[in-house]
Amino acid sequence: MVRVRFAPSPTGFLHVGGARTALFNYLFARRFNGVFVLRIEDTDLARSERIFEEKLMESLRWLGIHWDEGPDVGGPYGPYRQSERLHIYREYAEKLVREDKAYKVYAYPEEIEKLREELLSKNLPPHYTREMFEQFATRERIREYEEKGLQPAIYFSMPRKTIVHNDLIKGQVVFGEGSVGDFALLRSNGMPTYNFACVVDDMLMRITHVIRGDDHLPNTVKQLAIYEAFGVEPPQIGHVSMILGPDGKKLSKRHGATSVEEFRARGYLPEALVNYLALLGWSPPDAHEIMSVEEMIEKFSLDRVSKNPAIFDPGKLRWMNGYYIRKVEPEKIVDSLIPYIESRGWTYKNKEWLKHVFLCIRDRMHSLEEITDLADFFFIKPNVSLQVDEPIRKGLLECASRLQQENDLTKEQLVNVFREVVKTSKLNAKDFYMNLRKALTGKSEGPELVDIVTLLGPAETALRIKKALGVE
Ligand code: GLU
Repeated sequence: MVRVRFAPSPTGFLHVGGARTALFNYLFARRFNGVFVLRIEDTDLARSERIFEEKLMESLRWLGIHWDEGPDVGGPYGPYRQSERLHIYREYAEKLVREDKAYKVYAYPEEIEKLREELLSKNLPPHYTREMFEQFATRERIREYEEKGLQPAIYFSMPRKTIVHNDLIKGQVVFGEGSVGDFALLRSNGMPTYNFACVVDDMLMRITHVIRGDDHLPNTVKQLAIYEAFGVEPPQIGHVSMILGPDGKKLSKRHGATSVEEFRARGYLPEALVNYLALLGWSPPDAHEIMSVEEMIEKFSLDRVSKNPAIFDPGKLRWMNGYYIRKVEPEKIVDSLIPYIESRGWTYKNKEWLKHVFLCIRDRMHSLEEITDLADFFFIKPNVSLQVDEPIRKGLLECASRLQQENDLTKEQLVNVFREVVKTSKLNAKDFYMNLRKALTGKSEGPELVDIVTLLGPAETALRIKKALGVE
């Protein structure tokens, strides 16, 4: 049974890179009817925050990436928050110490730092050995630790040999003999290091496949050595290439929005973001890029995940968002428009009305936040003062006075009011309608006039005409 996990550290919002990793794991799990686990790696106490854990989960749920086991839903291999598993890491570290595959270190952090500097000053790689630490384990030091209630750190005795890793995505990677020195499994504050906690958890949670970012490739050699020390077969591991900005540099804040939360706030739809993320480093066999999650699940495989970095193209994502804004049922979108309107202090008649406002601008939208630009005049009166010929002025005022008395006109009736006036007064239709548009919206282009008039209603239309002509 395939079991994969997404293991974010709750130190910030969900970045597009993390979201893509989560998505690939999710697609892989669903493709093979496996289990997708969410594990929170919160052992960096200084940087981890519960609020980020909640935000991460919210972003994943919003994207439609649902987990089968995790801190909130539980599961047979919990707890799923590393900070609640500290006793497990200690137990497994002590086991390695008993088997002489790891050892206790009584050095203080500044002493370890000094060792490191000494090695570097001799042009040696900062690789520790058991012998280097022996000098600190004096009887006095051990007593001092006991008196202060301190725990010695536990270091892993890294075998000095070549380790070969067969990556699911990158192929064979050879880590030469002595490419890493001994490293900490548990720190003196009792916290496990990432590499140790990750292996213990992947092992105990029965993870079969690890799919993660290639920034973790250098960690893999350490992790493989720990599996070997436990006498356990490691999961199959694949590293997905990183995401670059359009300029070829690592994707960062400089390139604009990078977190799922930000894209959501800017009016991106989850359908668009998920579709776009899936294509960052993976391509479906049929080159058909617009896909629902169900289609992605059907088509997903790791052998179509690229070894090369993916380029994040905000323009393509924007285009895709526009596509989904037109494709998703409007009923599903309306509620998401409300915050943009309310944030401007604007009000709307009702949801049905708002839906129609949306429908008349959606063809030009690339993100939901654009409603405040493209449809502002539906919510606020424009500031216009029309300079028009007398016949047009009279025609517009006549329309206004006819509309003023009406409450409820059908679309056709409304249109007829204008048509009749243009016809009977022999007005230049183009000129008339251009000025009418100006009076109602303050702009020279926008949605169909008939939609604008219908949505504003007769009274408001009349009011705006008069205001623009300086009457009243
Ligand atoms: N907590 C690690 C991270 O957020 C997880 C890496 C892994 O998947 O092993 O990068």
